[in-house]
Amino acid sequence: RTGWLTFAPMIMHNFNAGPSILPKEVLEEASRALLDFSRTGLSLLEIGHRTPIFTAVMEEARTLVRELMQLDDAHEVLFLHGGATLQFVQVPMNLLDEDQVANYTETGTWSEKAIKEARLFGKVHIAGSSASTGHTTIPKNLQVEAGSAYLHLTSNETIAGTQWHQFPYETKQPLVADMSSDVLSRVLDFNRFDLIYAGAQKNIGPAGACLVVVNKNCLGKIKRPIPAFMDYRLHIKEGSMLNTPPVFAVYVILLTLRWLKKKGGVSGIEKQNQEKASLFYNTLDALPLFQGPVAKEDRSNMNAVFSMQDPKLEKEFLQAAEQEGMVGIKGHRSVGGFRISLYNVLPLSSVQAITSFMRSFANKKG
Ligand code: PMP
Repeated sequence: RTGWLTFAPMIMHNFNAGPSILPKEVLEEASRALLDFSRTGLSLLEIGHRTPIFTAVMEEARTLVRELMQLDDAHEVLFLHGGATLQFVQVPMNLLDEDQVANYTETGTWSEKAIKEARLFGKVHIAGSSASTGHTTIPKNLQVEAGSAYLHLTSNETIAGTQWHQFPYETKQPLVADMSSDVLSRVLDFNRFDLIYAGAQKNIGPAGACLVVVNKNCLGKIKRPIPAFMDYRLHIKEGSMLNTPPVFAVYVILLTLRWLKKKGGVSGIEKQNQEKASLFYNTLDALPLFQGPVAKEDRSNMNAVFSMQDPKLEKEFLQAAEQEGMVGIKGHRSVGGFRISLYNVLPLSSVQAITSFMRSFANKKG
């Protein structure tokens, strides 16, 4: 069976789309904390979340997000359960009344899921769609309905391999973004967004926690009663401890954010991400054996999707790549082909490895 190795080569190149690669030093430190956290003689998993040593973890994680994103005082940082999928529900539940309209952009699988859930709470207007191009583009010239509750977009479509490189900041509506697969990977004016959510398991840590950054001024404006667990205001009030938080996930996020800060923060990592993406796409464009479906200006720097001119070669390519320790390159089951995820933690050396492998494979076949 493909996708799994029967042996582990010396060097692994982990292109998984999520959960995905984490820094080795983070995994080492996290594993130490599993046995003896902060020299307490107890595991991180064995202590109360309200103990000072855990509240310090939560506090530092929150502070690092504020610092890395350069957030203003109106924005609050939360770590919640339920992944980005729960945010598809929680966002409209908190921001969209039954008689209101929310604008959504439709750019692929993930925005479609968000749209489906929002329709349970109010009216949805599709302000822009890439459906006619098979989601190989990002819609331009949005038709945003005036007076609506918010405008939602998926900043990076993990499966389609598209990414917003210019945001509709000029819109009058609160701007909401699902940044699950590109959060903290590039410099953005994060304060221009009223709500950002991101499942942690791609750029900022392991699965189990979802980062939410919300402008508190856009809360409390709707008539609907909100169940306590779904109410952002209560999570803010309780400092992400309305109930037991996902302690281990939050701790590994903290370690990953410290790692990111050491790498030069968001601007430091952005440079590396651009270098990785350029190397990959330049190689792809130079080799006729491979093709990328996405319009060049809308290509994602996080998830590069491609296929082979001759689909019969794909199995051979996949198996040969796996033999070289390159894992997680199979495309999502809904689109086939290949997908290389270039998240923050992936080193340039892994992109060098796969691009030189692609060149030598093409030479052999050419
Ligand atoms: N949005 C995007 C853009 C994603 O890539 C994913 C996960 N791949 C999700 C939402 C869903 O995230 P979760 O599994 O954390 O619910």
